[in-house]
Amino acid sequence: MPTLDSLNFCNHFANLTSFYYSKITPTPLPNANLLHLNHSAAALINLATDQTECNIADWLCGNAIPASAEPVAALYAGHQFGHFVSQLGDGRAILLGGIEGEHGYWELQLKGAGPTPYSRNSDGRAVLRSSIREYLGSEAMHGLGIPTTRALSLVGSSLPVYRETVETAAVIMRMSPSFIRFGSFEVFFYRGQPDAIRTLADYVIRHHYPELNACKDKYPRFLQAVVVATAKLIAQWQAVGFAHGVMNTDNMSILGLTLDYGPFGFLDHYDPGFICNHSDQGGRYAFDQQPDVAAWNLTRLAQALTPLMSVEDAKAALDVYPAVFTSAYIDLMCAKLGLTADKTRVPLIMQLLDILQENRVDYTIFMRRLCDFNSAADALNARLRDLFADRAAFDSWAAIYRTQLNTAQNDDHARAIAMRRVNPKYILRNYLAENAIVAARDHNDMSEINNLMHILQQPYDEHPGMEAYAAAPPDWAQHISVSCSS
Ligand code: AMP
Ligand code: MG
Repeated sequence: MPTLDSLNFCNHFANLTSFYYSKITPTPLPNANLLHLNHSAAALINLATDQTECNIADWLCGNAIPASAEPVAALYAGHQFGHFVSQLGDGRAILLGGIEGEHGYWELQLKGAGPTPYSRNSDGRAVLRSSIREYLGSEAMHGLGIPTTRALSLVGSSLPVYRETVETAAVIMRMSPSFIRFGSFEVFFYRGQPDAIRTLADYVIRHHYPELNACKDKYPRFLQAVVVATAKLIAQWQAVGFAHGVMNTDNMSILGLTLDYGPFGFLDHYDPGFICNHSDQGGRYAFDQQPDVAAWNLTRLAQALTPLMSVEDAKAALDVYPAVFTSAYIDLMCAKLGLTADKTRVPLIMQLLDILQENRVDYTIFMRRLCDFNSAADALNARLRDLFADRAAFDSWAAIYRTQLNTAQNDDHARAIAMRRVNPKYILRNYLAENAIVAARDHNDMSEINNLMHILQQPYDEHPGMEAYAAAPPDWAQHISVSCSS
């Protein structure tokens, strides 16, 4: 098995013209120490994880660069909170290159490895707190089966970093087939450089949508493929209760992956207006806004691609969004309810969400307990019912649910098994991340990160002895504030 320095990088992004990036050397990180290594991500690139002969932390934070890597920071623009910013780019991310192997193509990117030409007066660093959140958050999403970038490693440091208070720096190594964003196209649209848009679109199609390469109308099809991937992604976010927090177009993956974990949050009690990012005062990126925001962001991408297609073609590609999103969401919610997918179930789903909201019922706990719903006519289902202040509201919903189950050739036991595969027991609640951060940062104790990685990578399993991690948040957790500052 290769060590990081002996990995064979192929750098197809860096092989594009330097229009798209700047070559950059990571800034050394003092006292780098490996806090956590994700063995399941390491396996994707066949990376040896027992590297005792070298200081693996140095390779994983950019202090040492593999010989075949070509570090670059990518250029992009983006609509941030609705306003166009003409030049953003990787201000603190540095792409080393890609590894082609039996598990596909994976690019490796350092996050927090020092300033780049796109850092705009910022320090190019990431604090340990936000690095732990991204490390755990991306692996939690992967465990849930939701498309996402991955995280290979977490390296800590003694380097002070100044945010609201003084914190210390950390570097994560992220992995993704591509880190290209909607904003990677927008930058060239606003610069009036259609050739650069075409070359980038050809590149993305060639490597990531190869089935479209030979199509005559490959650009509209490409746009439509991104629309479909994004619609399905957002349906998964809504079904699991994930709020991204900063859905700017520069944080939207061209592959429909969850990308750039900042002030994200999972719902505790079901609250459609949930705003996880305390900097988002207007609630632009509130949980229930995400489907519309994604559509708006896709329109920005479509606009950036108009040099490659007619406006009619762009509109036609965008038009599939509502139907794809709705049908994906209905499918996911029906599966969570143990019912066959059918749009006639929508009133049942909406009524459930209404009573969960009105009773401030924990979404994940309810759905997990629902797996054990007893469909017998006289069953009280007390473990579910007791979650509601308004018991009658639950009873009347349960009566309708029971009817739909019983017309669907229900077998409670088989249904429970199937439902446990789609209703996670464990999600990365804010308070769990906070406990892991405090233990790691203040006590140099990685055991919470370890425990969370273990359960979140298999969130549908029971994990006997770990039930405490499935609990609703304690009172102190209401005061955790998560902002863009990271
Ligand atoms: P984000 O909201 O984290 O996705 O970042 C938005 C933009 O700001 C991106 O271009 C980032 O690279 C850049 N950025 C965020 N934090 C930093 C930082 N500490 N140093 C340099 N650039 C940053
Ligand atoms: Mg970003």
